[in-house]
Amino acid sequence: EVPVPGKVSTRYDLEKETELRFEVESGEAVEQIELELLTGMAEVFGSELNRNKKYTFGAGAKIAVFTWQGCSVNLYGKPEVAYVSKDTPMLLYLNTHAALEQMRRQAERDNERGPRVMVVGPTDVGKSTVCRLLLSYAVRVGRRPTLVELDVGQSGVSVPGTVSALCIERPADVEEGFSVQAPLVYHFGSTTPGTNIKLYNKLTSCLAEVYSQRCEVNRKASVGGCIINTCGWVKGSGYQALVHCASAFEVDVVLVLDHERLYNELKRDLPHFVRVVLLPKSGGVVERSKECRRDTRDEKIREYFYGFRGVTFYPFSYEVRFSDVRIYKIGAPSIPDSCLPLGMSQDDTQLKLVPVTPGRDLTYHVLSVSSAEDGEEGARKGIVESPVCGFIVVTNVDTQTQVMKVLSPAPRPLPRHTLLIMDIRFMDSK
Ligand code: ATP
Repeated sequence: EVPVPGKVSTRYDLEKETELRFEVESGEAVEQIELELLTGMAEVFGSELNRNKKYTFGAGAKIAVFTWQGCSVNLYGKPEVAYVSKDTPMLLYLNTHAALEQMRRQAERDNERGPRVMVVGPTDVGKSTVCRLLLSYAVRVGRRPTLVELDVGQSGVSVPGTVSALCIERPADVEEGFSVQAPLVYHFGSTTPGTNIKLYNKLTSCLAEVYSQRCEVNRKASVGGCIINTCGWVKGSGYQALVHCASAFEVDVVLVLDHERLYNELKRDLPHFVRVVLLPKSGGVVERSKECRRDTRDEKIREYFYGFRGVTFYPFSYEVRFSDVRIYKIGAPSIPDSCLPLGMSQDDTQLKLVPVTPGRDLTYHVLSVSSAEDGEEGARKGIVESPVCGFIVVTNVDTQTQVMKVLSPAPRPLPRHTLLIMDIRFMDSK
């Protein structure tokens, strides 16, 4: 126990099956909080703490240190809130993991596939946290599960406005979460599925297909199964999107967090062999305001370009000629059915590629660089279903010289020339 200079330290002795919850103030220039395990064993969202190592948490972090056997920890610095709770659903979450592990064992034995699990519920019930927990527990027992991230508002894998899949090979880092290497990412373009539900469902199907293909050639991925994190929009088309996802992925288990009606609806609408389970949310999950969500999204984009914590990236800024790229928006504005050209349906318009003429209003927009091969018409077909290879932000547009300036993680030239525009904007304050 070495004191941290200039910081107050508070010791907490935790009994077994209790958790210490704390929050770091949000905003700029706030004091970071360090956490240290002194005795016993403890974990943060499924990842074990090492003893006598100081873990640092920055602005806005909301953390729970849970112990199965009892432990004592120190916090250095003054958190906004810190309290110990005896009332946690962790035992239920662990049982859920045990049940999934049972299914994996059976899959291994019978040469079948492991459990495909969809985690659903309204906003702020801890869906992402439950996914992280189940994935970390699974890797800790030697599995290789896949995280499927369908939350376009608060993606844990890539920038907002995307859906993605990531193979999990080691438990989440206590401070930084899962290591994101080579994720499979698709462009959606906005922070809510409602802006283009057809596209959202289409991308869900794309991910399901790629995942299934991987399972066919990779036995470990197949047995490990997947954990699908979804959006908090559970009514109307949002609900339909969940039903669609369940069928696209052929899910075996649906975990419904804290929403009895949703639980009953899914039980009614999904095939009888799908196990729908209602789980309570943790009292520790903190509600996040609109501003807080927006800040988190902004931060995610900043991290993409500038790195975070120990890792600093140095993005590039360069000019791109309009004539060298093709920019599209996916989805034309919807028009009344009666006005559609003969033989065209509303679906077609939502998945249509609409060319964007670069203008000043392009400034600050995030653009996805599509991995689709450059080329004319023929290639245009596959663009919606092609993963993206990265993102750039337009920082300036000069219509006179027909040139735009972009912020890019890699030096020029762009690896591909098909760009997809997002509704999302990012103002670079660096
Ligand atoms: P969204 O509405 O974005 O889908 P969600 O349902 O996925 O949200 P999480 O992101 O899992 O919710 O949790 C919200 C916040 O609460 C996170 O910052 C997380 O770290 C925190 N949190 C979750 N569980 C606990 C807990 N037991 N104690 C303290 N904080 C917690």
